[in-house]
Amino acid sequence: MTGLSDSFQRPIDYLRISVTDRCNLRCIYCMPSEGVRLMSHDAILTYEEIYTIARAAAELGISKVRITGGEPLVRSGLPELIRMLAQIDDLDDISLTTNGLLLGRYAAELKQAGLRRVNVSLDTLKPDKFEFITRCRNKLSDVLEGIEVARMVGLNPVKINTVVMSGINDDEIPDFASKTINDEWHVRFIEFMPFAGEGDTASQFFSASDIRKRIELLGKLESCLPSIGNGPAKYFRFPNARGTIGFITPVSEHFCFHCNRLRLTADGKLRPCLLAEDEIDLKQPLRSGVSSTGLKQLIKEAVVNKPLRHHLAEGYIPKDRSFCQVGG
Ligand code: SAM
Repeated sequence: MTGLSDSFQRPIDYLRISVTDRCNLRCIYCMPSEGVRLMSHDAILTYEEIYTIARAAAELGISKVRITGGEPLVRSGLPELIRMLAQIDDLDDISLTTNGLLLGRYAAELKQAGLRRVNVSLDTLKPDKFEFITRCRNKLSDVLEGIEVARMVGLNPVKINTVVMSGINDDEIPDFASKTINDEWHVRFIEFMPFAGEGDTASQFFSASDIRKRIELLGKLESCLPSIGNGPAKYFRFPNARGTIGFITPVSEHFCFHCNRLRLTADGKLRPCLLAEDEIDLKQPLRSGVSSTGLKQLIKEAVVNKPLRHHLAEGYIPKDRSFCQVGG
């Protein structure tokens, strides 16, 4: 194995795999209210096809995969896919990003299948606001229960991803931060990207530096040293806390120069960058019997095509797919 690196000498070792474009929530910032046109079942990669792509990618140097969506847990038999991926020797980390609604039901089975850790997206701790943000009723308790079950079965760490939106949930920043002290949560605050939501999304932006100012009203934050995690988050903690606080700054301080990832969409397109429209189709070649060497060649092509950085700051927003269709 020689390892993959792109035209800018960035090592590429991380593949995010979207297994479905379907979701059991309708978050205001992720999905338009009228919904999105769903892919047909036939258009979506089978688990065998995903396995074949992941194995080829791993043989080229991908060592970490994260399963995402849509909502990955709405696709039936997901533990079976985890079990298949866990058999790939060169993959040493399999993780999942979920809205947590079905996590309580599946956490034990996922852990047993080989899942290491899980990120749960949760933007509010208030039931009425949960309903407003997700356009779904009475589901917050399921998410909170899912988080607890995931921790109990040993998915470690469970990280909570919170997208902060001005005027919507910025008042809850201290509540989430306090959870790192009282409940040992690992909370990551993510800057809202003006992507596919409704209305004046630009005015909903709330910067990580403003989030930090709100948190420091509760107490001083210390850097987590040596630095933890292998992604773009910068981690801190309160002196007396077991949990951590992370900041992810795709807008105010992009981390493209350290980007190590590729994305596979549910319909089999390999996307070198979340925020650029270029894609390479793997599904058709796979269904036409491409060889393992041919498949690897296509993966290398996507790596070579990886752009240096996104252009959100210049106002460029990809229009081809919404967040839930790329696999955020
Ligand atoms: N359904 C899964 C979930 O909820 O985690 C996986 C897919 S979801 C698209 C992945 C992540 O993208 C979530 O944490 C969500 O909050 C985040 N996301 C979606 N739209 C976003 C936006 N405009 N800005 C920042 N994060 C966004």
